[in-house]
Amino acid sequence: AAAAAAAPALAAAAGRAFSAAADGGKITATLFPGDGIGPDIADAVREIFEAAKAPIEWDEQHLGKTVDERTNSFVTRENLDSVLKHGIGLKGPMTTPIGKGFRSLNLTLRKELQLYANVRPCFSLQGYKTRYDNVNLVTIRENTEGEYSGLEHEVVKGVVESLKVITRTASTRVAEFAFKYAEENNRHMVSAIHKANIMKKADGLFIECCRSVADKYPNIKYEEVIVDNACMQLVRDPSRFDVLCMPNLYGDIVSDLCAGLIGGLGLTPSANVGANGLALMEAVHGTAPDIAGKNLANPTALLLSGCMMLRHLGLNSHADQIQNAALAVIAEGTYRTRDLGGTAGTSDFVKAVIGKL
Ligand code: NAD
Repeated sequence: AAAAAAAPALAAAAGRAFSAAADGGKITATLFPGDGIGPDIADAVREIFEAAKAPIEWDEQHLGKTVDERTNSFVTRENLDSVLKHGIGLKGPMTTPIGKGFRSLNLTLRKELQLYANVRPCFSLQGYKTRYDNVNLVTIRENTEGEYSGLEHEVVKGVVESLKVITRTASTRVAEFAFKYAEENNRHMVSAIHKANIMKKADGLFIECCRSVADKYPNIKYEEVIVDNACMQLVRDPSRFDVLCMPNLYGDIVSDLCAGLIGGLGLTPSANVGANGLALMEAVHGTAPDIAGKNLANPTALLLSGCMMLRHLGLNSHADQIQNAALAVIAEGTYRTRDLGGTAGTSDFVKAVIGKL
């Protein structure tokens, strides 16, 4: 059940015809190694993909050294064009300065490429014990607006306004995605997570859109849960949830909470999906500066993100093979990385996974 939970089809968004590798050819995908632990875990994924003979060729992309005026960010036009051209990519974490400095690179990529749904599956790993053994849920986060509008200004000294933008178009689009995703992945319920008791207009519009989409899916149960209550219930009994759909900031926070339920950020993958099947997969975690360059990072989250990418391309057997190998190593316990209570370095883990392919 755990493996099945981790094998979500993203067909809901896959209108794009990726050139299948059935003829022995390779599919080109963009790879952003990113920074901090990014290059370590990107190398790990590359090594494991190669050992598994996954038919992927990487177009490696690095951010600019100065701000590209065309994007107002270190993300260059060439970076964006690579993803647009190939339609698929894998991204390591990128640093975002706190409180000041340049526009978030992650935000730039999501906004410029209109990757409107962020899909984060989260499931208990067999053989790796946490307080819960029954987590099997997916958070779907609106990825382009909400609290991440970037519209902030100081009205007068000491008073800052930060604008949250909710539109019918983006809310309906992500709700449609969540219900289609639920339908195609045999999920039975969508919970819209909100704070419409306080943000009556903004979150009120978000749930109004979810409700109208829900009407079109009579076979999928629908509920609305206020975000604070949702957090409490997730910690008490995560098994009561299935697919959770929510605005940007709640999705960011709640999905980290979910990662905590199953053993931490080293394990949770995600996919950023846009129109026509455009997709950029990435781990939920950040650059982990405390362990960068020390051979301590757990590459599982990026590796499972890579598996989501393979499934998106229809390369399911490669995805299953790689995922099962990684999960078997974690279940066995000898080569767990430090975040999972083990002593293995990144390279030991990679070697062990390759040994199980
Ligand atoms: P973080 O996710 O980088 O780290 C939080 C904790 O989890 C740290 O103790 C770290 O060591 C641990 N951790 C994370 N990933 C791990 C892994 N693969 N293996 C083992 N341990 C792991 O969060 P942070 O420290 O708050 O953020 C650091 C930077 O990353 C910031 O600049 C932030 O903006 C950025 N960030 C980027 C993304 C992204 O690129 N999508 C996401 C989140 C944060």
